[in-house]
Amino acid sequence: MPELPEVELMCRALHGWSAGREVTGLWPTDPTVLDGPADRLVGQRIRGVRRRAKYLLLELDRDVLVLHLRMTGKVVALPTDGAPRPGTRLQVRLRGPQEPWGVALVDPRRLAQAWIVSAEQLSRWLDTRELGPEPWPEARDGAWWAARFQGLRAPIKAALLRQDRVAGLGNICASEVLWRAGVHPSRPVPSLQPPEWEALARAVPAFVDHVLAVEGATMARDGELTYVNQGGANPFEVYGRAGQACPRCGATVQREQLAGRGTFWCPRCQPPDGAAVPSRPERRSRARTRSSSSSGSKGLGR
Ligand SMILES: [Zn+2]
Repeated sequence: MPELPEVELMCRALHGWSAGREVTGLWPTDPTVLDGPADRLVGQRIRGVRRRAKYLLLELDRDVLVLHLRMTGKVVALPTDGAPRPGTRLQVRLRGPQEPWGVALVDPRRLAQAWIVSAEQLSRWLDTRELGPEPWPEARDGAWWAARFQGLRAPIKAALLRQDRVAGLGNICASEVLWRAGVHPSRPVPSLQPPEWEALARAVPAFVDHVLAVEGATMARDGELTYVNQGGANPFEVYGRAGQACPRCGATVQREQLAGRGTFWCPRCQPPDGAAVPSRPERRSRARTRSSSSSGSKGLGR
């Protein structure tokens, strides 16, 4: 579940809790979570935390603790007197006296992973992950998106999940940005027209900024996120809303398995043939040509 916006929020929170502080202990409470000797980080200071794709990078004096949260992982602050939380797989204790006492990786489904990588080896290590460029926060235009997926014949939904083409987007992001762009998830990559690539280019930062605002407010209030798949509030427009009304046009949101993943879309805002996408149904007219309709979809990028 944690995708680019959630990992970005974890990154900011983790930076606030740990930057400038010394690690006094690292305990994998699940021996399968950590690749690397736990005691190597003890005595090193955390210089900062940054994100690359869906990886969290805690940069210390000589090493980097890399975390990938997978489906259910999250990073939480440990209060001074807190007992270990259920689902904890890794704890990092920080030198006091200020709170938090430390941070923990909580991961009920036990799919998250952690690695200790030397600072010198980090860029080589990241190269082995074959990560494409970031879609955010740098401004990317439609031509950039079209070029990133050049040569692919897959449905656009599947292409958006290719971390080697564009890194950080996940299953939820894909449904949400395609809804914002007015593009059906099954459309083959080569069928997308320039106005649709432009709509996608606008949709991605709009979506990321929206989720950062909504989930950031939740984190500020609760101290952590409860993911939508684990019963948390749903901050998304179509994801997880099959059978509900599309917030733009009122049509019923659909759900279908695409490439093995639950995919959500609006049949009116995202027609399968990529034809007219009127922002108001009553504007639909037989006189509209495909090209004028495509340019009419620009306004859907929000
Ligand atoms: Zn709609």
